[in-house]
Amino acid sequence: MASILEAEFKKAYKQVLESQNIYIASHVQPDGDNIGSMLSLGLALKKLNKNVRLLKSDEIPSDYMFLPNIDLIKDYDNIDEIDLFIALDSSDEGRLGKNKDLLSKAKTILNIDHHISNTDFGHINIVDHNASSTGELMYDFIKYMNISIDEDMATCIYTAISSDTGSFMYDNTSAKTHEIAADLIKIGIDKRNININLYQNKSLERTKLFIKTMDNLELYFENKVGLAKITQDMLEDCNAKMEDSEGIISFIRDISPVEVAILLKEFSNNEIKVSMRSKRYIDVAKICSNFGGGGHIRAAGCTINESIEEAKALILNEIEGLFR
Ligand code: AMP
Ligand code: MN
Ligand code: MN
Repeated sequence: MASILEAEFKKAYKQVLESQNIYIASHVQPDGDNIGSMLSLGLALKKLNKNVRLLKSDEIPSDYMFLPNIDLIKDYDNIDEIDLFIALDSSDEGRLGKNKDLLSKAKTILNIDHHISNTDFGHINIVDHNASSTGELMYDFIKYMNISIDEDMATCIYTAISSDTGSFMYDNTSAKTHEIAADLIKIGIDKRNININLYQNKSLERTKLFIKTMDNLELYFENKVGLAKITQDMLEDCNAKMEDSEGIISFIRDISPVEVAILLKEFSNNEIKVSMRSKRYIDVAKICSNFGGGGHIRAAGCTINESIEEAKALILNEIEGLFR
């Protein structure tokens, strides 16, 4: 472990021991890494007899409802005593959504994340962009605290890592990632059940949305850029929800000539959430940062407050120079 990180682990553990009321928050539109990380750390801190609360930032996508103790993530009113606020997988305060306001009430903020764009907004920052996922950092931190990882915690960590590595396929997957996964398997997780829930559980509505979206795929710059849109009308036609767009962006990136995949999700007529993925050489975190977003080199996002057509024009204009 790098020494700077080790020093942060030490401070974080000390702070955990000294705190009683601990809140753990995720980013808006939580993903598998986020939800799995929250649950694993929450379960671990409960073993230390802490009063731990897992804050819901947004609806939990149905994909993750199979996770053990998922009901622990919920809304809380009248929060006043926060000894320790732990933000997970969130590159900046804005990503915390409605829970951002709690930061000012917290005695101590612990920021644990793996985004290259993390702003180190905590009093203690365990930020490692070489970690595949926040789940990987959860494994290290829980071990550091000498808490034994049980099957439920292992299931949540495995889900977190698998989600953020594209089932152990992306560049961020290291030898260490596999070593951690091996250990989680030894603990006795039901790997098959996790994989079925995560990857082989698509509803018919989601399948219809996939077909409709791909039918309207647009290709630019000699097919190096693949772009698709999901509008509210399309969701209605398919009786689907925006969370059913999960997986579409990866499919676009997986098309042979495509280097950059772009998915424009219309949450409302002037709120477009953009997802970007790249395959080999384009830094999509940099592109998204020009629109106030961020993420990782190969997976990033931003929100554009324009119509979907205007958002598309802005992005194509921004990346045009990269493909000349
Ligand atoms: P997504 O396309 O939503 O799966 O996001 C891909 C990556 O980009 C994730 O690591 C997100 O945390 C990050 N990301 C997405 N949207 C934003 C945003 N508006 N600001 C900063 N990071 C983002
Ligand atoms: Mn995330
Ligand atoms: Mn993550």
